[in-house]
Amino acid sequence: MDWKRTREALADEPAYRMRQVKKALFVDLIENWEEVTVLPKVLRDKLATEYPLGITAKTLVSSDNATVKALITFDDGKQVETVLMRHNSGRNTVCVSSLVGCPMGCTFCATASMGLVRKLTADEIVLQVLFFARLLKSEKVRVGSVVYMGMGEPFLNYEAVMESVHILHDPEMFGIGARHISISTCGILEGIQRLANEDLPVNLAVSLHASNDVVRGEIMPIGRTYSIEKLMEVIDEYVRVTKRKVMFEYLLVDGVNDTDDHAIELGKILKGKLCMVNLISYNPTGKYTATSEKQINHFKSLLERAGVDVAIRYRFGRDIEGACGQLATRKSNE
Ligand code: SF4
Repeated sequence: MDWKRTREALADEPAYRMRQVKKALFVDLIENWEEVTVLPKVLRDKLATEYPLGITAKTLVSSDNATVKALITFDDGKQVETVLMRHNSGRNTVCVSSLVGCPMGCTFCATASMGLVRKLTADEIVLQVLFFARLLKSEKVRVGSVVYMGMGEPFLNYEAVMESVHILHDPEMFGIGARHISISTCGILEGIQRLANEDLPVNLAVSLHASNDVVRGEIMPIGRTYSIEKLMEVIDEYVRVTKRKVMFEYLLVDGVNDTDDHAIELGKILKGKLCMVNLISYNPTGKYTATSEKQINHFKSLLERAGVDVAIRYRFGRDIEGACGQLATRKSNE
């Protein structure tokens, strides 16, 4: 399905036609133009011939049914993975990709091994949400939140990401509240600064993953460009402008960034900030081993002792390689 081309095809139609089509595609979640009986038959036939609604995807479901991973293939054959996470609370979250591959080179991340293949368009990002919205329709539930934490650094594709955010938020389309949309960055300072001035109050998540520049630089090449001190300066300014809490992601890797000293160091950096920390267990991608559950809990308690708001993030989809840092595609992207 190509929403941009469909929009262009309707440019000469009266404005109410666009509203009818938006409702059909993004609220009623139709998969066949024949279902849109409010449109004249001639227009339905034209749309069906020239703007098919299919999405090419293969899915994998985790053993506990809580996670569905979809491998989506675009018109040029390039592929991304996108993940649906079903929370116990009933909320359904889609984790979208914003690039095919990623050039940022984080050593714990499977996507990094692909390098940058290309950026996604806004429509290709939205398509990932639409795919799962259609899947959930039969259960009479909707996508409640979207996180930009899949393949690729979102701020390397800033314009397309923000355009997709507006489509997801548009009350005539998905109608997802801005506070239920989160963008995660490895720490592109210019992106954080731009986001602070956007009109939609989406959430910011920052992948920190280390408590000092030496460790961060080893596992995240961006840590050699921007120090943690500089990153925190920009985040402090973001919080000052937006008054919104920042979420820090911290992936615990055995023997790399998970010692008591690291926790104490991290606590000193984050103490007093309007933030929360998500501790994430490393999902095997070959290079490292995961921190023990006992040490994860201890790390958490040390942060709490420092006055930092902290939680351990539930591991979605580990058995289908749909968990954090495990997304990567090979075939068709080479
Ligand atoms: S962790 Fe994120 S920024 Fe780093 S290589 Fe993977 S996708 Fe890119």
